[in-house]
Amino acid sequence: MIEDKNQQRTQLSDLGEFGLIDHLTKNFKVKHKSTIKSIGDDAAVLNFDNKKIVVTTDLLLEGVHFDLSYMPLKHLGYKAVIVNLSDVYAMNAKATQITVSIAVSNRFPLEALEDLYAGIETAADIYDIDVIGGDTTSSNKGLLISVTAIGEVESENEVYRSGAKPNDLLVVSGDLGAAYMGLQVLEREKEVYKVNPNSQPDLEPYTYIIERQLKPEARKDIVKLLSELGVKPSSMIDISDGLSSEIIHICKQSKVGCDLYEEKIPLDPQVISTCEEFNIDSTTVALNGGEDYELLFTISQDDFLKIKANPSLSVIGYIKEEKEGIHLITRADTKIPVKAQGWKNFND
Ligand code: ADP
Ligand code: MG
Repeated sequence: MIEDKNQQRTQLSDLGEFGLIDHLTKNFKVKHKSTIKSIGDDAAVLNFDNKKIVVTTDLLLEGVHFDLSYMPLKHLGYKAVIVNLSDVYAMNAKATQITVSIAVSNRFPLEALEDLYAGIETAADIYDIDVIGGDTTSSNKGLLISVTAIGEVESENEVYRSGAKPNDLLVVSGDLGAAYMGLQVLEREKEVYKVNPNSQPDLEPYTYIIERQLKPEARKDIVKLLSELGVKPSSMIDISDGLSSEIIHICKQSKVGCDLYEEKIPLDPQVISTCEEFNIDSTTVALNGGEDYELLFTISQDDFLKIKANPSLSVIGYIKEEKEGIHLITRADTKIPVKAQGWKNFND
């Protein structure tokens, strides 16, 4: 859909590996004083003085995690950075550096990699991140991109999945299910396009959900907000696999149970209308959709007044004793066990 056959194409073999690395990374400027040595030596050198360091990595594979027929490469570069930063913020940490490793087949021209790196650079600028290294290699077929993110956190601020306590409130940022419904719309349009390449889809009713799929954001702002409000979550996780599996992670690691209230789950109107159109239950989408990159966390009830008025935060449940289990309290006031649906890519 997005491929422009008239684009200029420069073969990767014209540059060679080192020429390519230079070309792709020449714009990156160091922003953080913790970055002592960036791209160009055998390894980067960082100095965080006495801060704790967090490190996280994610691997994205063409055909498994993304589909280039509707995912522009610029967006892919952006998203590959975002999914990693989201994990750093979920530790209540500040993200400072990333490394980017790519494997590309020669079916990609240089211009495609320039687009990928334009997205990486945009994310690095918006989120104030140094790109400090990576690796570049060839692949037989598809595109692979792996990002490692590094961040810093004062010891007293770090937040794990394991700190939730009975009576804590379960809170989520933003709204859920939009990225999944955006994907459903894109998949549908791809099928329509296969049958009739001249069809012009009207995507206007789906702009928000498509943007959530193609250009997600990480909630750096929520980490800042909580710090300004003087609220330290007792536990936190980012929502990559879907609300239900993330709640289960928090409960298992914290050895607690939970009541989640269906009516409290935040949904955008576009998610609700698109779910109706696709005849899918919006609660199921919020629970199992994933790729929201919102933050899910628990706070002490003493902190409720501090977060209550904030439109970006919704209290969606209560932490219970472990023996009480993990349940969804439906709108009809029935209690059903919450089940995990993560690891989608292994089941599809
Ligand atoms: P080595 O042979 O030691 O692995 P490389 O030639 O792969 O070194 O890398 C040279 C420099 O360029 C290193 O600083 C490395 O981190 C950086 N680099 C390599 N590939 C990328 C990439 N895709 N994105 C960003 N930096 C890269
Ligand atoms: Mg290398």
